[in-house]
Amino acid sequence: MGKPTIVLLALLHQFLFTQGQTKIIDMHIHCYTDDYFAKPSTDYYGNKGSLNAETHREETFAAFRKFNIVKAVISGTPASVDNWIAKDSSHRFIRGITIESPDQYGIDTIRFEQMIRDKKIEVFGEIGAYYGGTTLSDSIWQPYLRICEKYDIPVAVHTGGGDPGGTYSWSPNARLHLSDPYLIEDVLIKYPKLRIYIMHSGEVWHEHALRLMAYYPQLYSDIGAMLWVEPLTQRYMTDFLKNAKQAGYLNRVMFGSDQMKWPYAIKKSIDFLNSLVFLSKQDKQDIFYNNAARFLKLKE
Ligand SMILES: [Zn+2]
Repeated sequence: MGKPTIVLLALLHQFLFTQGQTKIIDMHIHCYTDDYFAKPSTDYYGNKGSLNAETHREETFAAFRKFNIVKAVISGTPASVDNWIAKDSSHRFIRGITIESPDQYGIDTIRFEQMIRDKKIEVFGEIGAYYGGTTLSDSIWQPYLRICEKYDIPVAVHTGGGDPGGTYSWSPNARLHLSDPYLIEDVLIKYPKLRIYIMHSGEVWHEHALRLMAYYPQLYSDIGAMLWVEPLTQRYMTDFLKNAKQAGYLNRVMFGSDQMKWPYAIKKSIDFLNSLVFLSKQDKQDIFYNNAARFLKLKE
């Protein structure tokens, strides 16, 4: 076959493949710099992560193309986010920031406000307050949240546990009980206009997540990592999605993969959501795209 024929067939395959999958917004993607890959790690199933930052980026970008992911909130260090944005020719990405404590990158409130004005931060998060031993209701976060409310910047806060044994190594202050979504309630009261979503939908506290969503109609959630990371979280999320559907709050649940070092997890998450027979085709379309488009105020 000549080169043009191969290119044409590849395009046709891509077209046919993505026709089967609705458009996706991924509300939970991570990007990294090379130092993050210095220590190789495996996931729950023994799969090795990407080799380095560049292969990780390429593998993640390939998954975006393959699975019709048209927008993604990316969080990482400011340097890793800059790198991905520079290589994002199709303008898929919305700039987030991975942050465990407000002083992590030496970003004081003046610089923070400037970064928001310069569109260097379009979503404040993933905020991993729990990893740093605080909750979003702690005083250190308040000046930043006030700025987010002022500029209508969405806030993305981690809920639920983290990587096994993290407290013994990189996040000594992490305690599971700090990641209960009920602990952000004061934030919802103090900043009623704040656009905010709870990442991982509360994980083990998915009933708390749902109860908060019922009481605070502005609150959204994402299902990042829960669909792939281990059987335990898949069970939490199956229960959460069933309950959210039964109670009528599925319209504020958003897809996220939270691929971390394992880009294969994007496909696995999509397949898992598609396999849930109690969700209708419309439910899945809403979770994959419509709910996030509304939350992000995307203009078509
Ligand atoms: Zn998280």
